[in-house]
Amino acid sequence: MRNILVVLSGPSGVGKGTMKERLMQRGEFVFSVSCTTREPRPGEREGVDYFFLTREEFERRIGEDFFLEYDEHFGFYYGTPRGFVEAKLKESSVLLDLDVVGALNLRKNFPSAILVFLAPPDPAALKARLEARGAEDAKQIEGRLARADFELSKQGEFDYVIVNDDRDRAEAELKAIVTKEENRE
Ligand code: 5GP
Repeated sequence: MRNILVVLSGPSGVGKGTMKERLMQRGEFVFSVSCTTREPRPGEREGVDYFFLTREEFERRIGEDFFLEYDEHFGFYYGTPRGFVEAKLKESSVLLDLDVVGALNLRKNFPSAILVFLAPPDPAALKARLEARGAEDAKQIEGRLARADFELSKQGEFDYVIVNDDRDRAEAELKAIVTKEENRE
């Protein structure tokens, strides 16, 4: 059996967070904690959910080639620490939760990564949810919708697409993929 790097990705609002929690509860994966420049949300912990950095510090680390990939979305940087991932892979399989651009960029630096796209059962419903979410102005909503369209258009570039129609079924499908990949020669 080999240790694998699994990237869980998909449009915002598709249920990546829940899927990640479920996979982590199985205890087979180490989760790679990303760095970000956004503010912590209530309940989020430093080093558990993210490493929260200033823009200056993040940009300094970009210059030091600290990240396997990084991306800027919704006005904040997000990046995957290279050292952590490489060290942990010696002991265990590693799970990443990345946006679509980040996932595809990561593959350039890490060709053996397994990219999984979590797809909404009904893309129109996902877009309606984004539109209804919070008190955002028309421009922000337009931005989110354009991003969702772009992200959905990239699913063909992933190794696997799982439709998140039912959480238990989607989790079982992901688990089967992981087992198959870990046992591949
Ligand atoms: P949130 O701010 O809601 O925690 O995350 C926003 C988006 O950033 C999500 O789509 C999440 O998958 C993505 N994300 C989290 N960590 C990273 C990272 O290290 N790199 C990239 N490219 N995206 C990330």
